[in-house]
Amino acid sequence: MPLINRFGWSLSREAMFDECKRRYYFHYYLSWGGWNNDASEIARESFKLKRLVSLPLWRGQLVHYVVSKILQSTKRRGKLPDRRDVLRYTEEHFNRQFEFSRTKRYLTEPKKRNGKLNRDWLALFEHEYNIELPSEKVSATLAETTAAVDGFYHSPILEILRETETSKWIIEDIDIGSFSQSFDFEGALIHVKTDFIFRGSDGTFNIVDWKTHRRDGANDEKEQGGGASEIQLGVYAYYASKVLGEEPDNIRLYEVNLLDGGSIEQYRVEENSISVFESYIRNGIDKLSRVLEGHDIEANLPLPPENFPKIDNHNCRYCNFFRICKDTSSNIRLQ
Ligand code: SF4
Repeated sequence: MPLINRFGWSLSREAMFDECKRRYYFHYYLSWGGWNNDASEIARESFKLKRLVSLPLWRGQLVHYVVSKILQSTKRRGKLPDRRDVLRYTEEHFNRQFEFSRTKRYLTEPKKRNGKLNRDWLALFEHEYNIELPSEKVSATLAETTAAVDGFYHSPILEILRETETSKWIIEDIDIGSFSQSFDFEGALIHVKTDFIFRGSDGTFNIVDWKTHRRDGANDEKEQGGGASEIQLGVYAYYASKVLGEEPDNIRLYEVNLLDGGSIEQYRVEENSISVFESYIRNGIDKLSRVLEGHDIEANLPLPPENFPKIDNHNCRYCNFFRICKDTSSNIRLQ
């Protein structure tokens, strides 16, 4: 069955749209089908560039991966894996992925095979653009990655989890490499990507978001603007209430700040905030549909590229799509 580019909404998708519409066009439309050998050269290039990641984004992805593995192991065996073993594994995994990217194996090896992610797969922005990566920067990223994993082992969330039934844990399965939780909303596919869900000993329904912000407060993990965290948690609450049928006052939302020793912040959900987040999603869909032919989200056909204006600021040089957007020396470029 051919894959269909279904119209979807997520917080990160809307954030990209707000930041640069041309980038949004490259990411969600031009790159579509770029994995096929018979796709146009620019679609294949766009697909490759779409998958590049920055060092902070990689750090966040790797930490999420390791933490999901720790939880899966704990669920299976009934005890946490040894902290030192996990830190060693994290460092090895970091080095393997870095080497994979440095040698540009991402150009020849598929990211997914038989429905499973290749765990070593990584394509760093700097490697693709042949930009030198100072070793101190790489070492600092490794140190932050292991510190975040260590933060999990020191987090008060472990005390709370000790009282819960592991059989009821729902852990993000990163190995399948796709959104495991999605739902239909007025014709759009809404992507929810909760990191971890557990049922409290008091019957509460708890949704956890792992954070790997740096201590200087920079939100460089998900490339989203201010207030994004709160909205992200709100979308989770909407999902729990409207899709899974949990009572709003039974839902608890946690942010666990792994680079801050695993400190936790807990939020409750008010009955009327569910309708606030519902409106937020509806407005987001409406906004994104304005760049579609006839605003038709079912057909999901983008207007011509000139309807996706470029921006002009210093971020362009660090944008994945610089080569096909603004690099005047490139022979694969969309004017
Ligand atoms: S290079 Fe600049 S204008 Fe082009 S897609 Fe990226 S952010 Fe947008």
